[in-house]
Amino acid sequence: MPTLVMKFGGTSVATLDRIRRAAKRVGVEVSKGYDVIVIVSAMAGKTNELVGWVQETSPLFDAREYDAVVSSGENVTAGLMALVLQEMGVPARSWQGWQVPLKTTSAHSSARIEEIGTENINGKFAEGMKVAVVAGFQGISPEGRITTLGRGGSDTTAVAFAAAFDAERCDIYTDVDGVYTTDPRISSKARKLDRIAFEEMLELASLGAKVLQTRSVELAMRYGVKLRVLSSFEEQTDTSGTLVCAEEEIVESNVVSGVAYSRDEAKMTLISVADRPGIAAAIFGPLSEAGINVDMIVQNISEEGRTDMTFSCPTDQVARAEAAVKKAKDAGIINFHALDADTNVAKISVVGIGMRSHTGVAAQMFKALSAEGINIKVITTSEIKISVLIDRKYMELAVQALHDAFELEKAA
Ligand code: ADP
Ligand code: ASP
Ligand code: MG
Repeated sequence: MPTLVMKFGGTSVATLDRIRRAAKRVGVEVSKGYDVIVIVSAMAGKTNELVGWVQETSPLFDAREYDAVVSSGENVTAGLMALVLQEMGVPARSWQGWQVPLKTTSAHSSARIEEIGTENINGKFAEGMKVAVVAGFQGISPEGRITTLGRGGSDTTAVAFAAAFDAERCDIYTDVDGVYTTDPRISSKARKLDRIAFEEMLELASLGAKVLQTRSVELAMRYGVKLRVLSSFEEQTDTSGTLVCAEEEIVESNVVSGVAYSRDEAKMTLISVADRPGIAAAIFGPLSEAGINVDMIVQNISEEGRTDMTFSCPTDQVARAEAAVKKAKDAGIINFHALDADTNVAKISVVGIGMRSHTGVAAQMFKALSAEGINIKVITTSEIKISVLIDRKYMELAVQALHDAFELEKAA
């Protein structure tokens, strides 16, 4: 039997009625002759609630217990989905990550998938089970502890299953009907794209477009998984939604394909550090050991042997980052006068493979922002993206301005 992977995100399983609606979609694919692996998220809002409880207990929590708590939302939905399918007469059962087993590294709260055992599930398919409902976002570490794959990780579970089971396709059902030129909740002018290249989707995701978790796009690209994003609220045909595919499969593309934003950024500046060989290693070594995801880095011109070093990281890592640099200072590894944390910034990025062959995109971006009176604090670029850090209060305005400047309302 051909296998299909169908993933339903939080809003698509937010209530029993929605689980029933999703199950009907699954039933349609089963009736076409597929063995289906359904990956489910926790009900909308559940994971946030669980994370909130953990944070309330301690700001520097034990990540193993965090995973034990926050993975639980998916268990509930997996069981409910299996029950609903059984009620419909479809042979189905639920699987938690460890039962599959889905083996991961022991990097709690952001573990990576190492291996998916296919034997147990295939054995059940051979016995006549039609649907395996798997709790997304979770796995088991070599130490036998429950792990989670980072926020939005069910997308990655889905793609990894599609690769492991050689599925015909991996369909990601969500609350929008595809990938748009920017978040449709921020700009009413956003346009749905019929196709988007893996590389572009990878950049958009890593720069904040949470429609797909970054790692899921990486895996799909590596294993050639046919990945589709579509709405669980609308009737679907075989060509609905957005296909994430290889660059060669896209006939015409714009210079800029999309605008992404990330609200939860913080800018941290170490004021007056000694400018000497090895200073960057001395600062960023301890931050990396503390698990801080440092993104942008800027070092000022030095004056009298001292300089300011600025970096950005997610807002929720500020406390850990501060603790790490203070510890390094106390140990005499680095020396700085003050530490300034600005948690009111946002990152805005423009992405497009067309940038490889077009010049002037950065200039056009800066001009559009300047026309709105928006000050740029930090800039970084790569082959197919340009990112800037700005005051968070201008975030929506900046997204609209860039969407207009690059005429993305004409995209398709
Ligand atoms: P799910 O719960 O189904 O995993 P998510 O909330 O994680 O859904 O992702 C879907 C959301 O991603 C949409 O509701 C939308 O607001 C947001 N989003 C951000 N950028 C984009 C984009 N470029 N295209 C489509 N959706 C986007
Ligand atoms: N429930 C998890 C989260 O909210 C995983 C997911 O939905 O993909 O991050
Ligand atoms: Mg998601």
